[in-house]
Amino acid sequence: MTVSNQRPTYKRVLLKISGESFCREGESGISMVELSSVAEQIRDVMKSGIQLAIVCGGGNILRGKQFADISQQIVPSTAHYMGMLATVINGLALQDALESVGVATRLQSAIRMEGVAEPFIRRRCLRHLEKGRVVILAAGTGSPFVTTDTAAALRAREIDADVVLKGTKVDGVYSEDPMKNPHAIRYTDISFREVLDQNLQVMDAQAMHHCMEHNIDIIVFNYKKVGNIARAVAGERIGTRVSTEGRTS
Ligand code: UDP
Repeated sequence: MTVSNQRPTYKRVLLKISGESFCREGESGISMVELSSVAEQIRDVMKSGIQLAIVCGGGNILRGKQFADISQQIVPSTAHYMGMLATVINGLALQDALESVGVATRLQSAIRMEGVAEPFIRRRCLRHLEKGRVVILAAGTGSPFVTTDTAAALRAREIDADVVLKGTKVDGVYSEDPMKNPHAIRYTDISFREVLDQNLQVMDAQAMHHCMEHNIDIIVFNYKKVGNIARAVAGERIGTRVSTEGRTS
């Protein structure tokens, strides 16, 4: 990554999109409208020549905690494996949606399932990225009890991504929940330490620690606004940048 006039130029980006990107607000499952919208935004992003890996969540279908905390029948680790499989379903949908708008992709899974996805192999992933293919990384880390936020941070480190882009429904990181307090302040820059100390909702704590330890900035932004993924990739100041140095002004 190079920085000129305060605008970073990213070469390799890891985009984390949660399962809710695949469904309508307040619903579950996969909405073709939402899926197409994300795919079209990514198609536009790829025109810039960026290398893009995407970690997708699975919360629109299933999160392990749903069962892990309450079920007598399904043991917690199984519940989390079910959640990981949900991310593969989203990955397959995203792959086809991207290919339908002319974007070359590869789907790699942290849980081996050769019939539907390549296994995640770091060097092969890097080769795809270099060839301009979007690599969709599914099944999280392949291990239960963590979230795809942690997978995103770990993969970002493995593939040496310049930044983690965390697409959310809100415009960035706020001092309080902006849905509950309309006077909540949005930060443009904040440090990892402040996020952790104030328990602000950015990514889960494990993901935050990985990014903090390895100095990988996280940009939290609203992906629902069309064009925002491209703006974030282009290094425009949107949303909130979480970094080691934090506030610059
Ligand atoms: N999961 C897991 N290990 C991982 C990643 C995910 O066990 O490395 C499970 C976990 O149960 C999680 C679910 O998969 O709740 C779906 O992922 P996540 O909740 O991160 O999806 P999102 O909230 O981003 O839609």
